[in-house]
Amino acid sequence: MKIKKTVIFVGYECNNHCTFCLNSEKRKYIRHKKTAEIFNDILEAKKNSTTYLEFIGGEITIRKDFFDIISFAKKIGFETIMIATNGRMFSKKEFAKKALESGLNHIVFSIHGHNEALHDKLTEAPGSFKQLLLGIKNLQDLNFNEIGSNTTIVKDNYKYIPDIGRLITSIGIENSEFIFVDPNQGAPDEFFFDMVPTYEEVSPYVNELLRYGYEKKLTHWMVRYYPLCFIEEKYHPMVSEIMEVENFKTEHIAVDFINKDVSKGRENVGKQKIGKCKNCDYSNKCEGYWRNYVKKRPYVNKFEFDEISEKEKNYIKNNIELLKKDEDFLDKIYFLLGLKKVLRITVKEKKELISKVKFLDKYERIYYNDKYVFFSKDKNLAKIARDITHIFETDEKVNEIASKEYNNILGNLYGYPSCCSSAFNSDEIMKYVKINKGKELRRNKKIIHYPCSFDCKNTVELENEFLKRLEYIGIKI
Ligand code: SF4
Ligand SMILES: [Zn+2]
Repeated sequence: MKIKKTVIFVGYECNNHCTFCLNSEKRKYIRHKKTAEIFNDILEAKKNSTTYLEFIGGEITIRKDFFDIISFAKKIGFETIMIATNGRMFSKKEFAKKALESGLNHIVFSIHGHNEALHDKLTEAPGSFKQLLLGIKNLQDLNFNEIGSNTTIVKDNYKYIPDIGRLITSIGIENSEFIFVDPNQGAPDEFFFDMVPTYEEVSPYVNELLRYGYEKKLTHWMVRYYPLCFIEEKYHPMVSEIMEVENFKTEHIAVDFINKDVSKGRENVGKQKIGKCKNCDYSNKCEGYWRNYVKKRPYVNKFEFDEISEKEKNYIKNNIELLKKDEDFLDKIYFLLGLKKVLRITVKEKKELISKVKFLDKYERIYYNDKYVFFSKDKNLAKIARDITHIFETDEKVNEIASKEYNNILGNLYGYPSCCSSAFNSDEIMKYVKINKGKELRRNKKIIHYPCSFDCKNTVELENEFLKRLEYIGIKI
């Protein structure tokens, strides 16, 4: 039987200011729950047969009614009364003692760095690391050992997660989750490319971390929100959402939302499967990628190497020197390598068309005005590109707002990063397009679009992906 778990969000206020906070925005406009509302949630949870009660925030320990809430939960009776906390308040001995006396019987601490410099950088709260460690020690001095930890994996700390793991075990914790940052909302959505690393770059460290836990036979040593294809098979049971789906039925109750079935919700709105999942043996267990991860890095969803024919590979190999001269050619390779959903080719005359496209015969094609041909695996997508092009060419009334939207759609079809497509109408971009800098940059950098800035991270990632794929089919440039 699954354990019924209720997670009550008490409000979003916090004494840390974690850079990657999912609730950074919410904190400004959503009020925290009143005591009576929380008591009511607790009673409801009891009525619905919850045995595992968890409180999260923000930070519950800074509430004045913290002890009252815990005591009330204890009086009502739950097997587990748990909080997730940054741990700072427990640095006061008295506080730690009173929390346990009130009935708190499980605590999960957020530990984001293996040292003060890294942890405090991420929490933006000087002294938070020291207070956290002291808090844990205070509880252990009281013989309390129902302690776990959470670590959020972001760009700033992923290289150190094995070190963080070693720190965690060195202070006597072996009930730990390492959580790949959820980019669907809050700061990780807004500052995606500063915060959200790629699964590829994180995976060596995640596997090292899991190996460490596996060899040491730690009781609960897990990574969370991670696609299985990046993890060695023997560590698959250490991916926590899979274990959670099998063992828990979890609901979330907050001021601004209620989610009665968290894993279903994640499946339906939070995560998505991508192209490669179709033929994947793990697909029935794995939740796939975070949805916003795929939206921000659209190319992850388009790459199916197997579908590049020998003929196409040879075409690329034999003509690779064209890269320097012919921008159309660059577009074509991006398309063939799965980095564009739609390819548009411009022709001056039929003869030219025949020579330009003869290697593309397996694709659907849509003609427009003898001038353009749109290619795609999916005829409908080619049609959309054609229709928008038609509007741009014929409708003089397309205003700024509409053309922004159209540019975004076209950009997505042509494989441009969303930041760059949405910047396309800006003066800044037009300036360097006009002075021809853009063209030069595109050719030199082997990119197919005008980047939104000279150091657009998304563009650099796309270019690297392009080079990686070329290398995969045996071409180094
Ligand atoms: S289902 Fe998709 S994301 Fe999950 S392991 Fe398979 S290929 Fe990877
Ligand atoms: Zn950009």
